[in-house]
Order: sequence, then C-alpha cells, then structure tokens
Amino acid sequence: MTQRTDVVVIGGGQSGLAAGYHLRRLGIEHVILDAETAPGGAWQHTWDSLRLFSPAQYSSLPGRLMPVQQGEPYPDAAQVVDYLTDYEKRYELPVRRGTRVEGVHRDGSGLRVETDSGPWTARAVIGATGTWTRPFLPAVPGRRDYRGRQLHTVQYRSPSDVTGQRVVVVGGGNSGAQIAADLAHAGIDLTWVTQRPPRYLADDIDGRALFDAATARRRALDEGRIDTGGVASLGDIVAVPPVRAARDAGLLNARPMFTRLTPTGVEWADGTRAEADSVIWCTGFRPALAPFASLRLRGTRGRIAVDGTRAADESRLHLLGYGNWTGPASATLIGVGRPARDAARAIAGLLA
Ligand code: FAD
Repeated sequence: MTQRTDVVVIGGGQSGLAAGYHLRRLGIEHVILDAETAPGGAWQHTWDSLRLFSPAQYSSLPGRLMPVQQGEPYPDAAQVVDYLTDYEKRYELPVRRGTRVEGVHRDGSGLRVETDSGPWTARAVIGATGTWTRPFLPAVPGRRDYRGRQLHTVQYRSPSDVTGQRVVVVGGGNSGAQIAADLAHAGIDLTWVTQRPPRYLADDIDGRALFDAATARRRALDEGRIDTGGVASLGDIVAVPPVRAARDAGLLNARPMFTRLTPTGVEWADGTRAEADSVIWCTGFRPALAPFASLRLRGTRGRIAVDGTRAADESRLHLLGYGNWTGPASATLIGVGRPARDAARAIAGLLA
C-alpha cells in the first residue's frame, strides 16, 4: 500500500536530521527514510581512532550544541553517533530505519519514492544520502593485477586489520593523514603516498577556519568578487593531536604518487618499488545519487545541477550535505544547518 506524506527525506544521517529539524519547525509533515538500522549515518562505520577535524562547539547541528568532552576538544566518531542519537530523540524526528530507497519517480503533481518496504508519495523530496556508500578509487595502472589486499577508507577500522604487514596508504587529505598516523603509531611498516606534498594547516587552525573559509568563498562568488580559494587555500590536513604527534616524531614522511601497481606492490616513475601486502585507498567519495537516476536530471561530474539546494530541473527535489555544491561546508556538521533551513523554507513555499 502506498503511504503519503508532504516530504520524504532520504537518508537519516546528520543532513537528514538537520532537514527534519527545520521541516518540523515549519510544521511540515515528513518522514525520514534511512537504510541503516541504527542512528548515526556514516559515523557508525569510520575507523576506531578517527578524530573530528572540528572541535565540538563547531560540530553542532541546528538547535543543540554538541557536548564538549573534558580535556578533549576534538570529538571521536562514537561521540558524534551519541550526539545524533540524542538529537533525533530530542526533536522527535520521524526516522524509519532499515528502509532503503530504490528510486524516485515523477507521479502526477508529486513524486513517488520506491523503497524496499513499499512505496511513498510526497509533494517534495530531500536527498540526504551522503557519500560514504560511494567510495572512490582512482584508475591506476596495474590495480587489477595487484595480488595483495586493497581497502578503501570505508573498510579500514584499526591497525589490527594489517598487523605484521607492509602497507601503502594513498591520499593526502585528513583520512589519509589520520590513517597513516594510526598505522605509524602502531609500528606498522608504512609507506604514505600523496599526490602533492602534504599540506598541513597551521597547528592552531582547525575545522572552524575551514567553515569560515568555505562561507567566505561562497559569499565572494555570490557577490561577483575574486575567488578566495576557500578551504583549499588553507591546506588539506588538520593537525589533530595524533597526526601532529606522528608528524613531529618524524613518522609521517610522504612519498609522491606511484605510477603503477605491480602484482606485489607499487612502482614509481624512476623504477623504484615498494612491496606491499595491503594498499589502503584514502581517495575520497562521490555523492550517492543513484536513487535519483530515474529522474534523469542533468549534471556534470556525477552531480545534479542545483540552484542553491533545489535541483535546477526538478523543483520538488532538494539535495543536502554532498559538499560545497549543495551549500558552503554543507558536508560538515556545522555547515549543513543553513542549507537545511533554506531547503525547508523553499519547500514550505512550494507546498503553499
Ligand atoms: P551520511 O552520514 O553518510 O548519512 C547518509 C545516510 O543516508 C546514511 O545513513 C545512509 O545509510 C543513508 N542512505 C544512503 N542511501 C540511501 C538510500 N538509497 N535509501 C535510504 N537511505 C540511504 N565533518 C565535520 O563536520 N567535522 C569533521 O571533523 C569531519 N570529519 C570527517 C572525516 C571523514 C573521514 C569523513 C568521511 C567525513 C568527515 N566529515 C566531517 C564530513 C561529514 O560530516 C560526513 O561526511 C557526514 O557523515 C555526512 O553526513 P550526511 O548525513 O550527509 O551523510
């Protein structure tokens, strides 16, 4: 039997919850459908030692500050899961877990949302499916011939995954640096490889500055001023305490990107090689937009063209939390609040 509501939010991570908060404030009937069986979105699945690059006060959704842990400014993932669990309870957000959305289709004046537990119809849909379920691996020659183990950030949990192994970590962002530091502290035989030399933010700069830089960039572009360069102008890696400690101890010595994988390791352009039992690809993510493929919306680079958060070619669809293209710093805890508010307001206008 088809169920009806005004708005279906797809995804019950932080972005979906921020959407729910603002829809509720505006009195808009909605449901949040989430494929996970427990709260917390992607934060349930990250590696054990992950530290947020943003301190607790700068990692909050609208309405409720994330509690600060005594003596530890940077929360771990478990703390975020606790915070999100509490958040959805506190605001009585209507999350239906264990419900996977398979496709969104036009249906008269509304949208039909097909799920693995029956269809919904809605007058508008908010996509908040995140990126975690779409890990990206670059096309590097020899990847198929390599006989060792290949993991992506999403599969790595702790150094015990690779005890006694020779490991190559690929990636010069926060994930690559944190995982390389995790392995280095555990004494794993590590080769860290980055496309360009690692660029650490100054030790006293963290996620706060990233958020400010993303906002300043969007403002400059909106006002037709020169591109400030945004986050990229500051550096790639926040020196959270474990990363700083490993770097200062001389344990994080990055090598340039290799040119190919061999069956037993990696090889650089000058012919030098490193043998590797495992390669961990910390090479990022793509937006999880498969449920919207059926709408055939135009876009480039695996995205959907948007005007703010609204899909440019489908006014009943809003996208939240995928990156700067859906709002400055919208893929962060603190950054998703404003685009979520804008999306809820636009939908209120549409429903009126
Ligand atoms: P997710 O948390 O991925 O939630 C999406 C939800 O949608 C999931 O529950 C998923 O199961 C569900 N879903 C997906 N597809 C479907 C479907 N078809 N049907 C139903 N449900 C579906 N941000 C910060 O603010 N500070 C940090 O320090 C920070 N550190 C980060 C470190 C790492 C390693 C990563 C990867 C990200 C970090 N971020 C940080 C960025 C950001 O906060 C996260 O990426 C965040 O998880 C994005 O939230 P989301 O709700 O958009 O997506």
